[in-house]
Parts: sequence; structure tokens; C-alpha cells
Amino acid sequence: MVKVPDRYFRPYISSEEIQQAVEHIALEIGRAFEGECPLFLVILNGSFMFAADLMRYLPIDCEICFVKVKSYSGMSSMGVVEELIGIDVPLRNRPVIVVEDIVDTGHTLNAILNQIAHQQPSQIRVACLLHKAEATQYPLHLDYVGFEIPNKFVLGYGLDYDGLGRNYNEIYQLDED
Ligand code: 5GP
Repeated sequence: MVKVPDRYFRPYISSEEIQQAVEHIALEIGRAFEGECPLFLVILNGSFMFAADLMRYLPIDCEICFVKVKSYSGMSSMGVVEELIGIDVPLRNRPVIVVEDIVDTGHTLNAILNQIAHQQPSQIRVACLLHKAEATQYPLHLDYVGFEIPNKFVLGYGLDYDGLGRNYNEIYQLDED
């Protein structure tokens, strides 16, 4: 068990299992995009570790761009609006692969995909390390998924709790007992 900072988390997915899953995704992407030089759009902060390992295993040329989601209360009835900031390359007519750490309700990814679609890439694919299918409220197509997990809070391997735990090599699950 680890204590971060006041809650207990138990080991859930080992470093070896993560590396195997990430390598598998990288090789699949490599096969699907051979000769195409896709652009990876990495959603910060949580995806930094997943993205770094994905790049290490990727057998093809690619470009990478790190972006952030800025949330603010919109004037519309939609409530919180998610805006993608930091895209510094044109997406038009090129294959884009969105890299997300975790898809929970799917709200963030749904907003990101809508914004990217406006820029008319030739293809949009999604690679996410973790997916909480029970929690997802949008009909999202996730092309590459590392692990389907239950609707419980996790941390480590880029994911934080209260700003901490991002540096762990493995993934931990909140101990609710
Ligand atoms: P969504 O919009 O899909 O509900 O949530 C996406 C974001 O919420 C993720 O990118 C992540 O930052 C955060 N999140 C969702 N579930 C978890 C979790 O179990 N642990 C951590 N650390 N963050 C989570």
C-alpha cells in the first residue's frame, strides 16, 4: 500500500503489464500507419508518461505535439466548456492520434474530438491507456485501449491524486476499505 497524501492506494497494474500493453499499442499503430507519419496529440498533464513510452516503442516516423485542455464556465447552458490549447501545427489532411491517459465520463475526450474534427485531419484515432467503460457517457470510439478498468479512482504512471503520484512506475487503485 502507498499513502498519497492522506488516502491509501493498493498496487493494481504492474510496471511490466503497463509496458507490455504500451508496446502492443505502439506496434499496432506502427502497422496501421506505416509510411504515413501520424501526428500524436498528447493531452497533458496525465498522459506524459504513456506518451513517452509509446514513442519509445513506436517503429515508424511520427510527430508529437503536447496540448492542454482549458476548462472554463461558458455563457451557454452547456456549463463547463473545454478548449484545447497548444496545437502549433496544422492538422488538415493529416492523420492524428489523440493520446489520453484515462477516459472516465468521456466528457473531456468528446470535447477534444469535436475541436480536432473542425480542423479536418485525414483520420482521427484515439489511444488511451485506461478506460472506465461503466462511467463513460458518450458514444466514443477508442481505437487503442491499454486496460479496461472498473469505476474506481487510480493513480500513478502520470495520473495524480491531489498533484501527487504521477512519478510512480505502476498504477495504484484507491483502497476504499
Ligand atoms: P473524463 O472527462 O473522461 O470524465 O475525465 C478525464 C480526466 O479526468 C482524465 O484525463 C483525468 O485527468 C481525470 N480522471 C478521471 N478518472 C481518473 C482517475 O481514476 N484517476 C485520476 N488520477 N484521474 C482521473
